[in-house]
Amino acid sequence: MLLPRGCAGCDLPDAVLCEDCRAVFQGYEPRDLPGCAMGGAAACAPYRGVARHAILGWKDHGDEELDGPFGELLADLAQRCGLMSWCRESCANGPVWVVPLPSSAASMRARGRWHTVPLAKAVAARMGERGIEARMLPALRSTATGGRSVEQGSAADRGRRIGGHIVLDDAYDIRGHTVVLVDDIITTGATMRQCTAVAADAGARVATLLALAQTPSAATR
Ligand SMILES: [Zn+2]
Repeated sequence: MLLPRGCAGCDLPDAVLCEDCRAVFQGYEPRDLPGCAMGGAAACAPYRGVARHAILGWKDHGDEELDGPFGELLADLAQRCGLMSWCRESCANGPVWVVPLPSSAASMRARGRWHTVPLAKAVAARMGERGIEARMLPALRSTATGGRSVEQGSAADRGRRIGGHIVLDDAYDIRGHTVVLVDDIITTGATMRQCTAVAADAGARVATLLALAQTPSAATR
């Protein structure tokens, strides 16, 4: 038997994410991302208020019912930011890889899942509905373990030189492909810059990064 639930943003009864809280995620927040082909990253909302409350419930308290609404909202952002038309004009070469940003192995163990994967799948599915060949590809790994790396060897060493704690999984070859990065929250932007650098070093072209929210910059806080 399922217990009745409240909206993840505002606790309104009988909603996963109510209309008013969904509307909070229907904005467009640009963010600098050096090296990406579309000129910047984009987020749905500032990371505060109901957006923050809902994302924390999803990310850290296991509210997996939000996978659906959050995936739709991020796919909507992909359309709002012009990704679909950009891909139609600029991506002749095979599928676009939609790549979820990784968390540390410890965080994934604690959550019991890779929570940005369903977001990346939703974006890839929407691209497919719009006639753009796209697939989710979990190609990046984090070697972060809270200060030191447990991974040794050339991939991790190379990652540290180029992308800090981010490395390309040896199982995937992204050379010559266009990559769309997907994350939950942009904070300092360091991780998305590392992911962009690692993908570029592997011969891929990063179109943009899409996120549910970003922390407001110091200037607007
Ligand atoms: Zn609500």
